[in-house]
Amino acid sequence: MSFVFDPAAIPTLPIEGREHEYPVHRIFCVGRNYVAHADEMGVKVDRESPFYFLKSAHHLALAQGNIPMAPRTENYHHEVELVVALGSGGRNIALEAAFSHVFAYAVGLDMTRRDLQSASKERKRPWDTGKDVEFSALSSPLRPAALVADPSKGRISLDINGGVRQEGDLSDHVWKIEEIISDLSTLYTLQAGDLIFMGTPSGVGPVQAGDRLEGAIEGIGSFELTMAPVLV
Ligand code: MN
Repeated sequence: MSFVFDPAAIPTLPIEGREHEYPVHRIFCVGRNYVAHADEMGVKVDRESPFYFLKSAHHLALAQGNIPMAPRTENYHHEVELVVALGSGGRNIALEAAFSHVFAYAVGLDMTRRDLQSASKERKRPWDTGKDVEFSALSSPLRPAALVADPSKGRISLDINGGVRQEGDLSDHVWKIEEIISDLSTLYTLQAGDLIFMGTPSGVGPVQAGDRLEGAIEGIGSFELTMAPVLV
């Protein structure tokens, strides 16, 4: 097949100990998955129904080096999260089968234009410009699931310029990994290459150009990056 111009490159993530890259298909994000974060946002967790938003896979970047700030925001927030990377998929996946579809895990950041997201919520408009932001889906290299002892627990944290800003534990997820995979698979035909950002613990806040961000999940991975000025 030939194209009228070069198609955009397939977004990828490196895999620990593997030569081949992981090609990313879609990025699903879980909303309000820690009670303490829902509290700080002034909203209640609805245990009846998880909800989701998506980010373009082309807004993914490896969490390292310099990451540009986003334009048109005065309140660009960090949200450190567990990333689940699928190696296969399907529809109507049973809870018991969910983990068989997980290829790897990582620690990531769901960067958010909080001011635009809040304005969208108030006006009952979509969140897209608040959440689906270029360079806003950041992830460490993937750690294969076989090397992760227990993804249902472990300290998750984000430090900025050496001080702890976000801290929680994966065991505090309102909806567990298997529940999210099973539920998402009733809304979408899940596929290899789909990433799921599992929601953030409390302590979200703004970043500035020059800030050094260090994220980590015990047993899963870590990253270190520096926020750079907005691209002009
Ligand atoms: Mn989030």
